[in-house]
Amino acid sequence: MTDYVYDFARGGRGMAELLGNKGANLAEMTRLGLPVPRGFTITTEACRVFLSSGEPPPELERQIAEHVSALERAAGKRLGQADDPLLLSVRSGARVSMPGMMETILDIGLNDYSVLGLAKSSERERFAWDSYRRLVQMFGGTVMGLDNSLFEETLTRIEEQHHVPDDSRLDVCDLIRTVESFKDLIAERSGLEFPQSPAEQLRQAVLAVFASWNGERARLYRRRERIPDDLGTAVTVQTMVFGNLGRDSGSGVAFTRDPATGRTGVYGDYLPSAQGEDVVSGVRNAVPLQELAALDPTSFGRLQEYLARLESHYHDLCDVEFTIERGRLWMLQTRVGKRTARAAFTIASDMADEGLITHRQALSRVDGEQLTRLMFPRFDAAGTADVVARGVPASPGAAVGAVVFDSAEAVRRADAGEKVVLVRNETTADDLPGMIAAEAVLTTRGGKTSHAAVVARGMGKVCVCGAEDMIVDVRARCLVVDGLTVGEGSVVSVDGSEGSVRLGAVPLVESQVVRYFDSGAPPDAAAQDLVRHVHRLMQQADAARRLEVRANADTPQDAARARRFGAEGIGLCRTEHMFLGDRRRLVEDMILAEGDAERDAALAALLPLQRADFTGILEAMDELPVTIRLLDPPLHEFLPDRTDLAVRVARRDAVGDPPDEHDSALLAAVSRMHERNPMLGLRGVRLGLVVPGLFAMQVRAIAEAVVERLRAGGTPRAEIMVPLVDTVEELRLVREEAERVLAAVSEEAGVVVACPVGTMIELPRAALTAGRIAREAAFFSFGTNDLTQTTWGFSRDDVEAAFFSAYLQKGVFPASPFETVDREGVGRLVRIAVTEGRAVRPELELGVCGEHGGDPASVHFFHEVGLDYVSCSPFRVPIARLEAGRAAV
Ligand code: PEP
Ligand code: MG
Repeated sequence: MTDYVYDFARGGRGMAELLGNKGANLAEMTRLGLPVPRGFTITTEACRVFLSSGEPPPELERQIAEHVSALERAAGKRLGQADDPLLLSVRSGARVSMPGMMETILDIGLNDYSVLGLAKSSERERFAWDSYRRLVQMFGGTVMGLDNSLFEETLTRIEEQHHVPDDSRLDVCDLIRTVESFKDLIAERSGLEFPQSPAEQLRQAVLAVFASWNGERARLYRRRERIPDDLGTAVTVQTMVFGNLGRDSGSGVAFTRDPATGRTGVYGDYLPSAQGEDVVSGVRNAVPLQELAALDPTSFGRLQEYLARLESHYHDLCDVEFTIERGRLWMLQTRVGKRTARAAFTIASDMADEGLITHRQALSRVDGEQLTRLMFPRFDAAGTADVVARGVPASPGAAVGAVVFDSAEAVRRADAGEKVVLVRNETTADDLPGMIAAEAVLTTRGGKTSHAAVVARGMGKVCVCGAEDMIVDVRARCLVVDGLTVGEGSVVSVDGSEGSVRLGAVPLVESQVVRYFDSGAPPDAAAQDLVRHVHRLMQQADAARRLEVRANADTPQDAARARRFGAEGIGLCRTEHMFLGDRRRLVEDMILAEGDAERDAALAALLPLQRADFTGILEAMDELPVTIRLLDPPLHEFLPDRTDLAVRVARRDAVGDPPDEHDSALLAAVSRMHERNPMLGLRGVRLGLVVPGLFAMQVRAIAEAVVERLRAGGTPRAEIMVPLVDTVEELRLVREEAERVLAAVSEEAGVVVACPVGTMIELPRAALTAGRIAREAAFFSFGTNDLTQTTWGFSRDDVEAAFFSAYLQKGVFPASPFETVDREGVGRLVRIAVTEGRAVRPELELGVCGEHGGDPASVHFFHEVGLDYVSCSPFRVPIARLEAGRAAV
């Protein structure tokens, strides 16, 4: 026969699946000999039976009755008996703590008779009636489903009638009247009576906890947190103890260390003469726990001792809820406590020093999300400006600047020393200079994988996308939000972590951790300890990890910063950003060239510029690998917008001006190149195969940069990467061409220029034929952005705004597959390519350079499948290092 009910004396912390976290920890404290009021836990299994069949298991009622009898025998009083009744609390407790589920019902067992018994035994009539009032209110709300505001309204009415400011001033008669009013309210609204039978109260409370598992908020929470729907919750039933029996009683919460800073030393709040719920709800101001030392030194001493025992037993920060009933200390709950990012690093590092945990365990106590939080500047909590618009929190951090509406203005003002926020409906490659110049980017359209978001994250800039409440009028150079018109130059504060915009300048606090990573500069005195702890845990991670961490960077400045952040090379140097700005005209000449001679001349003009780009990057990353990707985007991205051009040409025509030949030629070229699906069109390796001389020029620039660096005494390690390969034939053709160029430069320079040639794997076909492709590739780098796009058939530029929020809400997937790698689909393709590639070429180097390379959960996956490195934006390098270390312990 199945046991659905476990006494606290049976079970322990290892049984959280069956007993829930609360039940398992109560059992653990009981086993440790701590003073826990007696009780029992009804298992998650009983809940699962109820959820699947709509009925509790048939034997549950009898098992509960037996355990209640045992409690009664131990207490020497009976549940709800008319004189000196035994009273119980009922609480929900799933394996993971879950807001949105029913939490607590206190004082089960009180009814019209036992309330008199409680008044007598406690010698406190008011206390007894107040307890009864609380039970009827909690029962009516959480068990019978009435809106709690109805009870609050009734209570306020009674308080007003008696001219008292709150319920603590109501006298016994008022409370008796309140209980009657509450019972009437229940009968009126539900058609049912408040149950007088204690056993019935208990039965209904237990079933209500079971049912709360499927409450709307609980379901939503589970979906968001990826908690399976079929776990069910346990229910703990515990003998009541009272903190509200006078000055020698009280309730509190305590932590074994400070959960905000991580500092050692007991920390918490105490509320004399109150029940636990009063402390948590904050209705009255609690005093610092230390004051208990003066109020009740014996209990304080005991509490300290118990906290120390719990921490050394759990090897972690614990928090507890406790009650002192007439000078006697009771432990009501414990768990491994939540903490801030700062506290997590401090506690892990301190506990390792204290020998409480190993250094490896310390690493598993912190994570990349926490490190991310420590790396962003934040708004000073004292900043009070109201939020005027909200959007998608696309790139975290906080920034303040003057609003500008185009890239040129952003650059102009930034050059003059002003901090700016670039506001656009959406961004394109054209906005890049403005994005570089700006502190933050704010758009009205797009989501987390829009151009603005991806580029801003890459640069570590703050970004809020899709702030739909704002209307941007670029021509009038203003935006309208919340009924206000904000002109160019007005200052706004953008919070990319919460996706909000405020008017005016909210004061900023710089991240000391970034300051330290970036410059090694000593932190402020206040942050010294934190930086020391972060540094030590990073050292642990570096020692433990198998994955190398490289950066995606395409300027010497980014490369140098990435290196300071610990990057061990560049995994992706995108060359398209080198084709913008002043060079645009040369790129246009190349695209418009009529005949080989014109094209060669345009390419020849680009060559020295590209060579200088590569030389700078190779210098910044001297001795470390630098993977340079040949040009990837469709060429029309480097030409003006088709509609703008057509308007310009038509306007001249309309007013009878002679045509501008350059514009006309551009328009013809843009029209010729127009594609309906450019991301699936002429881009990547396809460009190399149809635009003569383009890739050869880039390879030559790389090779000549290598020669230059060698001559300067450097150790350049350039690698050449081919994008968007579908079939081995494409790669073979490009590789052969590249090797011809490398051989020619070697010959001209009189030095051997050896650059490995490899490929991105970013199309499903490439992954599925990786065995063949490996014959021609020195390395694979998984481009999981395009691989996600093409595997799912999702346009990475459009989907987030179009339907991702609906998909996330409906639980189609728990997180955007563009943020966290989809293990089942995209991940499977990666596994296939790893296995088949290595089978053909065991020394094949394997990395990833899509956005996922800096995502904590994805880094663990890449470790598991055996990649050699992950590559991510410079700002995410420390996060990837930490997660790679955690994946290995
Ligand atoms: C990718 O597709 O994952 C990738 C890194 O290339 P890009 O984002 O430049 O297309
Ligand atoms: Mg790509």
